[in-house]
Amino acid sequence: MPLELAIILPAATLILVSALHLRSIRQDRAVEAAIERGFNEVLAIGEKNMNQQAYELLDEIRLRFPAPNEACSVTLDTLLASHPYAAHAFLYDPGVGMVFRSRPLRLNEPGFRAESADLQKMMEDWMKLDYPTLVERISKIEKKGTPYFVFANWAPRGDKHAYQPVALFLQHDPAGGETAIGGIAFDPEFLRDRFFPNFLDTMLIHGSNPEQPEKNHAVLVLVPRGESSPLAASADWDGGTPEAERNLEAVFPGLTLGIKLRGTTVEALGRHFMISSFLVLGALSVLLAGGIWLTLRNVSRQMELARLKSDFVSNVSHELRTPLSLIRLYAETLELDRLSGEEKRQEYFRIIRKESERLSALINNILDFSRIEAGRKEYDFRDTDIADLVRNTLEAYRYQIQQHGFTLEEEIADDLPRLRVDREAIARSLLNLVNNSVKYSAEDKFLRVSLYRENESLKLEVLDHGIGIPRNEHRKIFEKFYRSGDPLVHTTKGSGLGLSLVRHIVEAHQGEIRVDSAPGQGSRFIITLPIPPPVPYNGRAA
Ligand code: ADP
Repeated sequence: MPLELAIILPAATLILVSALHLRSIRQDRAVEAAIERGFNEVLAIGEKNMNQQAYELLDEIRLRFPAPNEACSVTLDTLLASHPYAAHAFLYDPGVGMVFRSRPLRLNEPGFRAESADLQKMMEDWMKLDYPTLVERISKIEKKGTPYFVFANWAPRGDKHAYQPVALFLQHDPAGGETAIGGIAFDPEFLRDRFFPNFLDTMLIHGSNPEQPEKNHAVLVLVPRGESSPLAASADWDGGTPEAERNLEAVFPGLTLGIKLRGTTVEALGRHFMISSFLVLGALSVLLAGGIWLTLRNVSRQMELARLKSDFVSNVSHELRTPLSLIRLYAETLELDRLSGEEKRQEYFRIIRKESERLSALINNILDFSRIEAGRKEYDFRDTDIADLVRNTLEAYRYQIQQHGFTLEEEIADDLPRLRVDREAIARSLLNLVNNSVKYSAEDKFLRVSLYRENESLKLEVLDHGIGIPRNEHRKIFEKFYRSGDPLVHTTKGSGLGLSLVRHIVEAHQGEIRVDSAPGQGSRFIITLPIPPPVPYNGRAA
């Protein structure tokens, strides 16, 4: 059906495409890749900022460095005293030789003394050997924008080594003499205990709200290349392997900056994302399917109703036409006065009366129905002897029923209570039921109307030996316009309004109607009307 396809196809495509998309995200590990890309960016920015800070510290000292020809020991000592992050400072002038100074206050520490002696010796040997190449190398770096050539020195600390970057730079002689090479060695303990931890902590605080740290926030670590234990880490570093790493070059060669998520892994995050996405998609699909089901059900009901309405129009016009043309035919014949005997005339009059009664019954049904539909139907409830009402109604139609060849049985119990009902409406309900029994009976023409009391209700029953109604139609026959697909029903006149009217009327009386029937077994329609409890006697005479 095109309508169903028009709704189901786009929805199914949407769900399928989303599922495939999610699957490809999972297969390509796209979530993990995106997080890792983010990590690499953080690391690159981190290195840049760390270099920047280190350059600022180095510049502080370099710009105050003595010129190549000046006597510089005192100047270097002063510089070291006022810049505690530097452990050693030196100046190598090829003409004068090496002036190497270390922080005087720390020289009484054996480790520091060894570090100072080692570095001084190494620098002197290196400068003597390689001065021209070094100058060339530093000039090249200078041209690229930073004045420093930094190498990593591993300062002895007992049986271990401390990481110590040493920055070399060119110190040009304003008087035009030879260029000297200046050097600043960072203090390893300052870097390890203050510079690195501060930097690692502030770096991530920029990215997240310090008041409310995210649950799975990132943590950073600095590890000397080739070693496993960290040199420094974020305050809440929880161990484990970094998810992304970057080998530092410019100011901190030999170190690797790593990043990972605290308390979880990128893989777990990716898995969690996939699971929750599939769950959301599943829930959405269920909602969508429910919505589609409701829409289709509604639409098919509306379409069914539209079909029933158009059937109704053709049925009603047909039902109006037949009695009208009969009335006209017989009236014309009477007018021409060509009939032989009085008996014939009487029969013609009877036919005209019968057909007009059928017409008015049909029109009454339609009028009642339209009043009910518009919510304007009013009932006139009066205290009534139901037994009398049923008896009189049947009496008025007994002749007609028997004319159709029906055996009519009447079983009305004695002593039935009086009820407040709309007499006309109840009589019309009974007539509709009786009429249906007459219409929908084939050979076995039998009809029984019973009225009796059962507990706190009154039952009005119409039973026939007619064609019967299949189980699946027991509810539908009470809907407006509904007519069964049985061939006999098809050839019989009807509007499909009768039973829906009866149901309305019965419900307006707080009662109910039900049917007991099977194809070929006849039908029994039972109207149940509640008997109100008797008003308690209050002891006062009326
Ligand atoms: P109508 O008789 O005008 O078609 P109703 O609302 O009175 O409309 O009845 C609805 C349908 O219920 C009928 O078309 C018929 O198929 C079925 N029906 C009603 N009464 C009987 C009955 N006594 N025996 C068999 N079928 C019946």
